[in-house]
Amino acid sequence: MKKRVGVLALQGDVREHSRAIQKSGALSVSVRRQEDLASIDALIIPGGESTTIGKLLRIFELIDPLKKSISDGLPVFGTCAGMILLAKDVIDGSHDQETIGTMDITVRRNAFGRQVDSFEKPLDLSNIGAGSVTAVFIRAPWIEKQGSNVQTLASVESGHESRRESHIVLARQDRQLAASFHPEILEGQRYEVHEYFIREVAS
Ligand code: GLN
Repeated sequence: MKKRVGVLALQGDVREHSRAIQKSGALSVSVRRQEDLASIDALIIPGGESTTIGKLLRIFELIDPLKKSISDGLPVFGTCAGMILLAKDVIDGSHDQETIGTMDITVRRNAFGRQVDSFEKPLDLSNIGAGSVTAVFIRAPWIEKQGSNVQTLASVESGHESRRESHIVLARQDRQLAASFHPEILEGQRYEVHEYFIREVAS
């Protein structure tokens, strides 16, 4: 039987994730209400605007049900704004930034600088068995700190030659996965990160 993978459909790039889920051999289900959580095997929180999604989560009374489902073992994959929403702590968040806060990471919002709205970078995904891809970053966060239970899966470098810094952009804590970039729009319609999530994290 096909796995039922939910996409939180309040705001953001929901359609692209649905397509990626289907291409990865699973069934895509829109999640907007608490009841929708009962029928899914895993959940994706898409990119978009984390403050807006956070506010909508509050209005739709989804924060506590999501906390509980994830703590009870619902596999979850947060991408970009979704990564921010999973983080326990946010640096440079808005004053009213709400998060689900189940993942032991501190993320810096708009970390690559506001002036660099979006860019592409080659990314080594060998830790998830996927080789190299061109990853798209859109006003992306990075992981600045992580608990000892969080595994780094991919990093990128920034800065100039004299001062290179490495930043974590893909990490996993048990059944939670978080990416700074947009795995739903990888070049050549490759969906290796979704496949990894569905096959390994949500197994
Ligand atoms: N910078 C956005 C935020 O804070 C995230 C951007 C994205 O999801 N592409 O929510």
